[in-house]
Amino acid sequence: MTRVLLASRNAKKLGELRRILAAEGIEGLEIVGLADVEEFPEAPETAPDFEGNALAKARDAAAATGLPSIGDDSGIAVDALNGMPGVLSARWSGRHGDDDANLDLVLAQLSDTPDERMGAGFVCSAALVVPGGEETVVRGEWRGTLVRERRGTNGFGYDPIFVPEGETRSSAELEPAEKDAVSHRGRALQALLPHLRKLAG
Ligand code: IMP
Repeated sequence: MTRVLLASRNAKKLGELRRILAAEGIEGLEIVGLADVEEFPEAPETAPDFEGNALAKARDAAAATGLPSIGDDSGIAVDALNGMPGVLSARWSGRHGDDDANLDLVLAQLSDTPDERMGAGFVCSAALVVPGGEETVVRGEWRGTLVRERRGTNGFGYDPIFVPEGETRSSAELEPAEKDAVSHRGRALQALLPHLRKLAG
């Protein structure tokens, strides 16, 4: 078994990667999270783009643990806000991780924007760093439209106001497996699969 570190404490992200690997029949990799390795100082996310943050997280984790490491960074880019909140998605209202306040602020900022200009996209970058080996950075995107009223209770963050292209439901109304199959994070992890397959040997 090759241990691969997903540099995250989010059990949902760990579960999602494990499910994708299992679905692809990739055996031989044990996915561990930050809670499973010795603690090391985690650098703040200061890069101007998702790729930079994902790569920094993966490099730090690989250097600290010696394990092949995956870093990810994600957020929502709203067309009418010139791509913001972007890398600031988790702390848009000023308080890191206050999903409700972040969502309310985005809706307030869009209150005068006509319905036909409510386009947005979730973005996820994922980086795989193999100590002494390759660095790979991939990106997944999921386009949709924002709505002004919250819908659904699944998911997190901006899911209740994001209606993916081709859907009438918000992403908070999708089942977790439905979301994984098409989401920005699902697509980014899918793009890493060839590299993970190589590690699995
Ligand atoms: P990260 O954990 O640093 O990548 O921060 C991602 C932030 O972007 C979250 O706090 C959410 O606000 C937003 N975000 C990223 N992915 C999603 C998603 O799938 N649904 C809803 N919000 C998301």
